[in-house]
Amino acid sequence: MPLSITAIPAFETNYIWALHNGRDCVLVDPGSSAEPMAFLQSHGLTLCALLLTHHHHDHIGGADDILARHPVPVWGPVDPRIPQVNRPVSEGDQALVPELELQLDVLETPGHTTTHIVFHNDEMLLAGDTLFSIGCGRLFEGTPAQMQASLDKLAALPDQVKVYCAHEYTLDNCRFALAVEPDNPALQARAEQAGQLRKSSHITLPSTLGEERAANPFLRTREADVIDAANRREPGTGQDPAAVFGAIRRWKDTF
Ligand code: ZN
Ligand code: FE
Repeated sequence: MPLSITAIPAFETNYIWALHNGRDCVLVDPGSSAEPMAFLQSHGLTLCALLLTHHHHDHIGGADDILARHPVPVWGPVDPRIPQVNRPVSEGDQALVPELELQLDVLETPGHTTTHIVFHNDEMLLAGDTLFSIGCGRLFEGTPAQMQASLDKLAALPDQVKVYCAHEYTLDNCRFALAVEPDNPALQARAEQAGQLRKSSHITLPSTLGEERAANPFLRTREADVIDAANRREPGTGQDPAAVFGAIRRWKDTF
């Protein structure tokens, strides 16, 4: 059976992504255990690995409980705050899930946290809290320059790559992005679509990297309209992408 990818909602806004083939299943960022365990049971799936992107509780909080029942490989960053990781990976490494014939490349994406990583291949990006649809993670630990460099790595992936983020933030992100780039037609279209989807409680994910490059202001810090908006917000910002990113990110923090 081909690979299916299912969003398991948890907490207010989290999605725990399940990658499965009708028999085996990988869980990404299980912040809680009850919902993914119920999913495995109701679909008759065997857990074969966990993938963890960063140490925040809403991404790893369910891991101990799940691992107590299913001791599986746990791929994640090198970080003492994630003791569950038994397959530590860093930039350039691969996470291997033979049960799903899956090989995922690892990128280090510091910014939201210092040790955040993402997993990707030519079809999918498991973005954690680094990249959201039309947004990006808050800078809890990193600098604007670090996050700008992390987002540049993701922006270099092919257009068709599907973006699986860990939160349903799209509609709020669109409201902010429209304040930055009110005249961006791709953004206007995404805001309209996300509004319709959320009205009926539907998920807005995955998006694609092509769509994000066209509408996500945090991937557009070299665009004239975004540079202008950053300089109106914080005069003297200039054109440096990291400075533009910093101004837009600080604006979003208080939006
Ligand atoms: Zn987080
Ligand atoms: Fe999170």
